[in-house]
Amino acid sequence: MDLEPIIGLEIHVQLKTKSKMFCACPNLFGLGEPNTAICPICMGYPGTLPVPNQTAIEWTQRAGAALNCQLAQHSKFDRKHYFYPDLPKGYQISQYDQPFCVEGGIEIIVGDKTRTIRLERIHLEEDAAKNTHPAGSNYTLVDYNRAGTPLMEIVTKPDIKSPLEAKIFMQELQKITRALDISDADMEKGQMRCDANISLREKGKSQLHPKTEIKNVNSFRFVERALAYEIERQTKIWEESGPPTQLSTRGYDSKQGITYEQRTKEEAADYRYFPEPDIPPFDFSEEDLGKIKMTVPELPLAKQARFIDQLGTTHEQALLLIANNSLANFFEDVVSEIQQLDNDEVTIMPKEVGPLVSLAANFILRYLKNYPPYLGNNQSDQAALLISPANFAELIVLVYQNKINKDSAAKVLTEMQRTGGDPDHIIENLNLAQVSKSADLEQYISAVIQANPDVVAKIVAGKSGAMQYLTGQVMARTQGKANPQDVTRLLKEALEK
Ligand code: ZN
Ligand code: MN
Repeated sequence: MDLEPIIGLEIHVQLKTKSKMFCACPNLFGLGEPNTAICPICMGYPGTLPVPNQTAIEWTQRAGAALNCQLAQHSKFDRKHYFYPDLPKGYQISQYDQPFCVEGGIEIIVGDKTRTIRLERIHLEEDAAKNTHPAGSNYTLVDYNRAGTPLMEIVTKPDIKSPLEAKIFMQELQKITRALDISDADMEKGQMRCDANISLREKGKSQLHPKTEIKNVNSFRFVERALAYEIERQTKIWEESGPPTQLSTRGYDSKQGITYEQRTKEEAADYRYFPEPDIPPFDFSEEDLGKIKMTVPELPLAKQARFIDQLGTTHEQALLLIANNSLANFFEDVVSEIQQLDNDEVTIMPKEVGPLVSLAANFILRYLKNYPPYLGNNQSDQAALLISPANFAELIVLVYQNKINKDSAAKVLTEMQRTGGDPDHIIENLNLAQVSKSADLEQYISAVIQANPDVVAKIVAGKSGAMQYLTGQVMARTQGKANPQDVTRLLKEALEK
């Protein structure tokens, strides 16, 4: 039997607003002591009134605009009822038939193909509290800090054709939410969680069969593996007894790499949805929605193409840089400094700009990642960087022109971050300028040759590996300030004499 998978995803993304969705409690889940960021509203006390968080709504609409959705002019919240200890009100405020965003879709790159994955909707809701079942205990701990935090849910159409496509879609979505600066979407921290729906059907036929929903998968790799496992499992069922007859819900056990039966899924009617009576419906004007659309920045795939085609980074560099807003912005600032560098003091030929940009990208990816504060995607993280783009560009030119070597450059960077100073002064203060004049170097070289007659004898006898030892000795005498390639070259010349 020739079967094909039909996959759709429901992805929950925690929004990083300052306060919760319907109250003024700080949105700090995972950071503070349990049950410290709570109030009568998010604890569901009778008589309290929810007040919607306008930023969370705008961010959901911004995501909708970025994902090419229609932004609804009329929208409302609804109550979705179910009973569970993590849901103190006995219902979740969510959206049923009038979400903030409908339709839409994005392109993803799968191998050498571009695929469009359409969206069904994006709605906004509140998260539940967090239950923890300590191993070996017979009780459950509940942290209500997460209760009532804003949660955006993105639902795709069943357009995904393979586990790999599901993973790539999720990764693209993560990049987009980071570029929009609305969520860090870290799956390990539960900031982005995926429910994957999958069914099989006979190739060429259009009839769909009851699907299986795999709940709460928490890494890209697990999404791919859980779906691959499900394809195998369902194929066996088809072969043994034909298509499944009812919906099912399964969990994923990442240790064993298997999915397991959880419960039969409720239908919408079981949730008794009805309009949230405490929050009036929303009307948005074309003008309001137009303003939201203006806040959408350049998206990752477009930025990636621009970095490669216009700035001349490699594919790899572009991917790493745009994974982090702060690094990408810093890189762009450095590039524009490099492009303006040709002045009275420095001469940069147009053909040198490319290699300088590439060197800058390498340095940013290699060294700035060592400073944890810059790894975040918050706008505010950039303030922690004391190295200005202009100073960074100057340093890159000094390395490019061999005025200092790469090891010294790392020291200079550390000092630039500590003091906010410029590289010229720091190099002078630390006495790191490269010993590059041949005359100076030759003195060190002849001293090393004289001090190591036995090593020289080995080299003369053909054991060229010993050359590294001599190079090391010269580098040590210059206190690391020479260029190792120059040293080796001059050593060879000296020995050939
Ligand atoms: Zn609260
Ligand atoms: Mn949901």
